[in-house]
Amino acid sequence: MNILVSGAGIAGLSTALDLGVRGHQVTVVERAGHLRINGSPIDVRGDAIGVTAEMGLLDAIRAKRVDMSERTRFVDREGTVIARVPYEEVNDSADDIEIPREDLTNILAAALPPNATIRFRESVAALTEDGDGVDVRFASGGSARFDLVVGADGLHSRVRKLVFGPESDYLRHLGLYVGITELNSEDFGDDDRGTMYNYPGHMAGITGYHDKVLGILLFRSEFIDYDYRDLDAQKRIVIDAFAGHEEWKIPRLLAAVDADPEFYFDSVSQIHLPTWHRGRVVLVGDAGYCAALLSGRGTSLALTGGLFLAEELERAGGDHTVAFDHYEKRQRPYVEFAQSTVDVGGAILAPATQEAITARNTRLRSLPAKSREPKGERA
Ligand SMILES: Cc1cc2nc3c(=O)[nH]c(=O)nc-3n(C[C@H](O)[C@H](O)[C@H](O)COP(=O)(O)OP(=O)(O)OC[C@H]3O[C@@H](n4cnc5c(N)ncnc54)[C@H](O)[C@@H]3O)c2cc1C
Repeated sequence: MNILVSGAGIAGLSTALDLGVRGHQVTVVERAGHLRINGSPIDVRGDAIGVTAEMGLLDAIRAKRVDMSERTRFVDREGTVIARVPYEEVNDSADDIEIPREDLTNILAAALPPNATIRFRESVAALTEDGDGVDVRFASGGSARFDLVVGADGLHSRVRKLVFGPESDYLRHLGLYVGITELNSEDFGDDDRGTMYNYPGHMAGITGYHDKVLGILLFRSEFIDYDYRDLDAQKRIVIDAFAGHEEWKIPRLLAAVDADPEFYFDSVSQIHLPTWHRGRVVLVGDAGYCAALLSGRGTSLALTGGLFLAEELERAGGDHTVAFDHYEKRQRPYVEFAQSTVDVGGAILAPATQEAITARNTRLRSLPAKSREPKGERA
């Protein structure tokens, strides 16, 4: 089949790979001019690990494994450690593989077969479906016809908007926003990595892997209506959210945000749709069922989603109506589980009040010493 995939994130790349190795002709369109490889390390968990084995990529993924979450600790405004985060609090699955987003993206892209190609600076402008195919008009002006269209274009999916309607119908905002910026590694030492500072409703943190140092800014807020493609607007929102706070390293983190051309910012939100397919169009990954950053399972959902879709298409002999139904039945339990796991993270990382921050620190300090020991970096 001739299949269009919108988006070259983890969902788009893994779907393209899973479809491509099964002989389909796959075109991936990515709005950015390059693979978007920024962000903090992400987790491959549970059955998604088996999926990467099935794709022949598990060894390559294991080889790039990092371990940031084991060193996490909270500090006060002077930088003194006031509580450590036990490994179990941030990792609920023993077989978790933490890998830089850039490495997983590059591994998937490098594994694409020749019949799966990526077109950068391109996106879907309009879709018209008839009984036999989908006519796609691209933002660049060209058009083409495909047998199927996969929307893997993330939380703010264009394909979802075109086929299922406005994002506001499906978005559940969880009350938090997150920004991630790259910091100059010469300005932040090893001791800075894994530190997090809170004031009510806000968390500023520094993390890192290999020679990369990242600043993370998390804050509580009602839903903010802004153009999510406007980088300057994103930077303004974060800088305003932390305005007036000169303590700890907040000013330096905000200066990095201001200067970062690849700054990542988004709401911590979920997408809930009653069904992920309509006609010849199907959604995979955050586009269909974003579980939100706090679940730590968005990448795993993207990986299982891509494989289940490709396997079911093969099993159904190309009958997409049967395949899409089966894909949804297999994937739905993973999505429901992932979407149900987000409550704890926000309460630990960004407590809403000073009392809640103090109570969290007291609780963490009271945990047995063994579970508070950082284990060190595995890679
Ligand atoms: C730059 C970036 C940094 C991230 N950092 C983190 C992180 O630190 N921690 C974390 O837990 N999660 C992060 N995420 C989200 C995480 O990658 C996803 O939740 C998960 O991997 C599922 O991926 P996805 O492919 O469904 O969506 P995404 O990773 O959002 O990928 C969607 C892709 O589609 C592209 N796209 C968007 N709109 C269009 C369009 N109209 N046409 C064509 N292409 C389009 C985007 O540029 C992107 O490449 C990040 C996502 C991005 C894009």
